[in-house]
Amino acid sequence: MKVVYSDQYDLNLGNHVFPSIKYRLIKEKLLRDQIVLPQDFVEPRAASEDDVALVHDREYIRKLQAGKLSYLEILRLEIPYSPELVRAVWLAAGGSILAGRLALEDGVGVNLGGGFHHAYPGHGEGFCVLNDFSIAIRRLQKDKVIERAMTVDCDVHQGNGTAAIFAGDHSVFTLSIHQKNNYPYPKPPSTLDINLRDGVEDGEYLRELKKGLDQALSDFKPGLIYYVAGADPYRDDQLGGLKLSIAGLEQRDRLVLEKAQAKKIPVAVTLAGGYARRVEDTVQIHTNTVRVAKEFAK
Ligand SMILES: [Zn+2]
Repeated sequence: MKVVYSDQYDLNLGNHVFPSIKYRLIKEKLLRDQIVLPQDFVEPRAASEDDVALVHDREYIRKLQAGKLSYLEILRLEIPYSPELVRAVWLAAGGSILAGRLALEDGVGVNLGGGFHHAYPGHGEGFCVLNDFSIAIRRLQKDKVIERAMTVDCDVHQGNGTAAIFAGDHSVFTLSIHQKNNYPYPKPPSTLDINLRDGVEDGEYLRELKKGLDQALSDFKPGLIYYVAGADPYRDDQLGGLKLSIAGLEQRDRLVLEKAQAKKIPVAVTLAGGYARRVEDTVQIHTNTVRVAKEFAK
């Protein structure tokens, strides 16, 4: 299985609650644990401006590229603006396009980045600048390699940007399972939102996710699923209020991939959030996701 990764995914945010160093740490752990061989990492190309414009407003793109975001727009991102940030998110979008193509060939593709589900067409928020996997869906639809797609968003925070982007579009089914009493507010409706109460543990989470996946996949047959595999439903996450264990999160990964494979639907994985008190836990959760994904590759 190929894994899409760039050293430039790391934004060097230092002490920020968003540990952007995680991308490099996950890559190193995947090598150390011999889950991925050095030759199986592939470098993404940055998405083109036209790709990005399939989802985002030209005015927003121009402001990002020219460094012309307002103070309030940067505040809403909650991460510092820099040319490196712009470079990183353009690469992550290219990485999700590539992971989608790899999934169509190999059954599973992994982008060791992305999952920036809070980005809207005209603004970014919550550490998300460009909605990489929505851009990827639009690009793959434009290339006519898929007609329909599904997003399965298991980050602890609701996929508000994604829901807004695909609102009213019957070619994309958006599923989000998340903690109800948490950012973002408001939550524009996904095709299917599973709102969980605070403190939900493994058993209840897995039952709700299984029910949601069964419902989604009985009504809708996508050519590709983008799995937004956030690590932040973890019980020791600083920005989440659910109580999943590391083993429970691995069962979650397996459930998503099993349900997809049963219907012969390729899956492209993106990482999304993860803010565990110990960065090693976040790295372990994401590494497990890649290990499970590999079991499902052709
Ligand atoms: Zn999150």
